[in-house]
Amino acid sequence: MSTFWDKQIARADLLAGESSGSKELLGFYAQLLRAQQEIYESFRGLRDWLPSGDLESDLPVVHSSMRGLLERVARNGPESLAGEAQALLNPDSNVMATELLSYWRSPLDTQFFAKAVLQPYARWLVETKAMPVGRELAGGERTCPFCGGRPQVSFLQSRQGSAESGNRDLLCAMCLTSWEFRRVVCASCGEERPAKLGYFHSPEFDHIRIEACDSCKHYIKGVDLTRFGLAVPLVDELYAAPLDLWAHEHGYTKIELNLIGIKKWPHFVPPRRPPRTAHVNFREI
Ligand SMILES: [Zn+2]
Ligand SMILES: [Zn+2]
Repeated sequence: MSTFWDKQIARADLLAGESSGSKELLGFYAQLLRAQQEIYESFRGLRDWLPSGDLESDLPVVHSSMRGLLERVARNGPESLAGEAQALLNPDSNVMATELLSYWRSPLDTQFFAKAVLQPYARWLVETKAMPVGRELAGGERTCPFCGGRPQVSFLQSRQGSAESGNRDLLCAMCLTSWEFRRVVCASCGEERPAKLGYFHSPEFDHIRIEACDSCKHYIKGVDLTRFGLAVPLVDELYAAPLDLWAHEHGYTKIELNLIGIKKWPHFVPPRRPPRTAHVNFREI
């Protein structure tokens, strides 16, 4: 049976093999996903341990699970990140324990290592039905109903018995599960007026679009599985990194940077000519 992680890894490997500008980015992401799978499997393999959902008490197990990830990043990551990983591999370093707890309480999408480790942890919480506690998060329909995480990517898919051509879901940046969300609403501020909401699309990434809001100037990428059913939202979102550059240049801020946020490592995405874009009202699509 193909697991969640197998599916993400297979898609990242496939896209990394394509000769696009994001090749290096996807290659590194495939390595990261493998490390995250190993972390997840290490939790699963512990016979006498189930997570409590309180990171403070689960911390020793979570902290000790991350050596493999640090080694992979030290080996394959971009220079600055590899250096950080190397420093964290020092057994005397206590930096990571503090980082993990701070990310858990109040996440920042630039905290790469904490996010990379806590994604498989949060996913294991979902599967063991251990409710997350000790998080200081806003809540509400625009955050994950399970863990309170922010949306990483939006996706459209057909559901049986639904009259609509595609239902919209948001995928949580933390526990990587999804929840249903209304189609014509900003996932950041809740804006509903169609004139304020638009999407930008480049033929280069036919099934992916920028879903932007002119009220709060935030955006999220949307992956349309009704157009291309083989896409894997988490991975395809990252694949379309050039669209982030475009959105950034046009004054939009991403709701949540993905794990390899391009703001931190722009050299991963070589500059290219800007995508041809169309601004179309949501109702028209
Ligand atoms: Zn979540
Ligand atoms: Zn908004």
